[in-house]
Amino acid sequence: MSRRVYSAEPIAPDGIARIGDAEAHHLLHVLRVRAGDELTLFDGRGGEFRGEVVGVSRREVEVRVGPRLAIERELVGELVLAAPLPKGDRTRWLVEKAVELGVARLVPLATARSEAPSKGGEKLDRYVIEASKQCGRNRLMELAPVRSWREWLAAGPGDDGVDATPDAVRWIAHPGGAPLAEAARPTHARAWLAVGPEGGFADEEIADARTAGWQIVDLGERILRIETAAAALVTAATLLARRP
Ligand code: SAH
Repeated sequence: MSRRVYSAEPIAPDGIARIGDAEAHHLLHVLRVRAGDELTLFDGRGGEFRGEVVGVSRREVEVRVGPRLAIERELVGELVLAAPLPKGDRTRWLVEKAVELGVARLVPLATARSEAPSKGGEKLDRYVIEASKQCGRNRLMELAPVRSWREWLAAGPGDDGVDATPDAVRWIAHPGGAPLAEAARPTHARAWLAVGPEGGFADEEIADARTAGWQIVDLGERILRIETAAAALVTAATLLARRP
């Protein structure tokens, strides 16, 4: 894979793309691209294009774009992950791994014991772009607005107008839950997964989740941090998945 460059602007196949801002800065001042260098462009909406640098200025890189290549590196089913955002660099790690593991949408959670969600809007967008460049994803993971636990439980499957697939999994990680081996086997349909804050979920939150039909699953003997639990849960859901 040649150097991957993200364009927030739609990319016209067989045309010229002008790359500015943070992406241009990186190309010009870190990678020091020159005319003739080859790039791979992606628009975050599923398109990938081969490109060749045809001009550089102080703030902009001009790229001749080839045809649109239909290359998807997405999971077969849609995977939605909810988690309270941990502090500082750990949020960066969480976002990065969620992108790498194929999460379609990350929902920051506000729960009884989570701290006030940190503002990280634009920074988080950059983490998503950087991770997508690195791992070859052509669709950007969506960063949803913060949801309360109640909203998350009510939302879940079907919240985007798509009917809940009957065999979608809805897992909430909580120590003492059912061993994953006994939980519903995920399909490639859809999965809604949630992990809790450092202080854990409150008993009522788990009770409400059960009432709403979520499965409570355990991730082993050790207590994992939010981001580790998230990565483990996503990995389990994707690697155990069978085709519908
Ligand atoms: N202090 C809490 C744990 C918080 S860890 C307690 O002892 O219950 C942060 C989150 O990661 C938890 O809310 C849970 O969603 C997930 N998690 C961590 N370790 C886990 C495990 N062994 N099994 C299931 N979920 C776990």
